[in-house]
Amino acid sequence: MKAKLKKLVIVGGGINGWFTAGYMKNKHPWLDITLIESDNIPTIGVGESVVPQVNDLLSTMGLEERDWMSYTNSVYKLGNKFVGWSTPGKRHHVTDHWNAPKEDVQYYSFSFALPEKHLTRSFYGQLTTDDYFTNSKGEAGVNDKWNDYWLQLVRDGRKNINELSEDMHEQHYLMKGNKAPFDMDDNCLVGDWSAYTYHLDANRFPEIIRDKVAIPKGVNHSIGDVKDIIKDEDGYITKLIMEDGIEHEGDLFIDCSGFHKVLVDGMNNEWHDYDFIHTQDAIVGPLKYKDIYNEFKPYTQTYAQDEGWNFVISLYNRMGSGYIFDKTEISVEDAKAKFMKYWEGYEFIKPPKHISWKAGRMVTPWNKNVLSIGMSHSFIEPMEGNALYITQWGIQILDRLVKRAWDEDIAISPGSVHAYNKSMNKLEDHTANFIAYHYTLSNREDTNFWKKQKEYGKKHNHAKACWEEYRNPDNHIGNSLYPDYMWMNVATAMGCFDDSVELNTKKELLDKADIMFEYCKKLSKAQGDLAPHAYDWHRKFLFDGKSHEEVLEESLKK
Ligand SMILES: Cc1cc2nc3c(=O)[nH]c(=O)nc-3n(C[C@H](O)[C@H](O)[C@H](O)COP(=O)(O)OP(=O)(O)OC[C@H]3O[C@@H](n4cnc5c(N)ncnc54)[C@H](O)[C@@H]3O)c2cc1C
Repeated sequence: MKAKLKKLVIVGGGINGWFTAGYMKNKHPWLDITLIESDNIPTIGVGESVVPQVNDLLSTMGLEERDWMSYTNSVYKLGNKFVGWSTPGKRHHVTDHWNAPKEDVQYYSFSFALPEKHLTRSFYGQLTTDDYFTNSKGEAGVNDKWNDYWLQLVRDGRKNINELSEDMHEQHYLMKGNKAPFDMDDNCLVGDWSAYTYHLDANRFPEIIRDKVAIPKGVNHSIGDVKDIIKDEDGYITKLIMEDGIEHEGDLFIDCSGFHKVLVDGMNNEWHDYDFIHTQDAIVGPLKYKDIYNEFKPYTQTYAQDEGWNFVISLYNRMGSGYIFDKTEISVEDAKAKFMKYWEGYEFIKPPKHISWKAGRMVTPWNKNVLSIGMSHSFIEPMEGNALYITQWGIQILDRLVKRAWDEDIAISPGSVHAYNKSMNKLEDHTANFIAYHYTLSNREDTNFWKKQKEYGKKHNHAKACWEEYRNPDNHIGNSLYPDYMWMNVATAMGCFDDSVELNTKKELLDKADIMFEYCKKLSKAQGDLAPHAYDWHRKFLFDGKSHEEVLEESLKK
């Protein structure tokens, strides 16, 4: 950066643009921020499953969880359900996935929530979370992993490899029964920290940050299309000229224009391709519920297909769905026909649309005085709802660098820009690997799509790499978006159990661990039986008793 930062110009009024504007203005009220958005170019309107950390960012902006949830027609998400990822089979209609046999189904959740609460309440008082959960520094999932105990019990034939979720995720039975994570007196039923996350309406989400945070705190909002970009002799942007002739000068320009890449395209940025990600197209469309008690699911549905996968996301008033596919294996027309057939008998609220992208990232997301945040910087594919978190990570680093430069009254240094780029690239590459392993560790070989994934995984020894991530001491909660147990989840779900992985367990604690898993399972099951249906709970506590039809009708009028 050449100049000290005073004026920040953001292009793009999607989730990422308003997220950046709201957060930065809230943290640095002295910053002069202008957000530009086109009224001709719509936001992408997808991105509805997010990770738990999103609420941290919203609460620092003063947005209360339940307020933003009811505004965005959100529901609590307890995890992910995967069907057909390691077992072949033709599943042409959504009901084939909903009614799949147990052996085709895996649930994943946030397992770290489990022991803390149950152990302290259990009568096995001599067990503490330190035995299973933390190292001497209190870092979760480093040396004494309680997952190691479970894996050892599997090795010893005392636990079933296919019952990881039952044994370790207290959300399992809530998910299975479409139950809420609170009871009807509003007591939380699951762990003490981030035991759930959210599904939210991608169209309403930017609006709440705009209307409740960014604009009230003084972000300038300019509507129109960027027509010209003016640079100085060193290639730094000095101003943007709008179609109506209005000019916006700035010190730092943030590109949040999504796949339009309005600013970054002209910055000669090098591109890093994720060519091992084959799913770079989607057909997406929102749908009405037909049978709310069966279709309202408090988890993200991730359903394998012959050439990719389907997602289904329950919001309070509708479902979001998409078919993520490999265009080299099925044409866009055929994929669309397949998606329509998948939802035969259901009513789309808007006609399904096709979205295409190139999986990869900029090598220098921050280049000179132009920073790309969100999909203008990178996109892998929607698996595991990772994109918004990557944005969040970027905004939080930016916040720290801005604060330091302000405190020291200096321009943001090239060293800081370099550190930003390094950190973003590391997170993105880690995420890309995590996503890739969902495909490459699969046992499926029934279509060309799955065959080529498996070959790639074998060639690059993904099985070994995945288990190394499980053992990697950096992958602990608080330090990594994908803590240790998530790599174990993927590997075991895909049937990729490695008998040679080093496990650190104390022999004398194995019996106690076995009892603990059994105890947790029974407690979770009982809790799952007693908890209210997720729809009933959301209706009462978040939507003032209004039905999903009423809320849909209201949202269609807006
Ligand atoms: C199929 C699919 C599923 C996804 N699922 C998830 C998920 O489950 N979880 C998750 O976290 N993420 C998901 N994502 C990613 C998520 O959709 C995006 O991160 C999110 O929607 C934000 O996009 P954005 O703000 O970067 O861009 P957009 O929403 O595309 O907004 C772009 C903005 O730029 C403006 N603009 C464009 N050109 C100009 C111009 N010339 N002048 C002025 N303004 C301009 C537009 O008006 C608009 O306001 C998914 C993405 C896809 C493709």
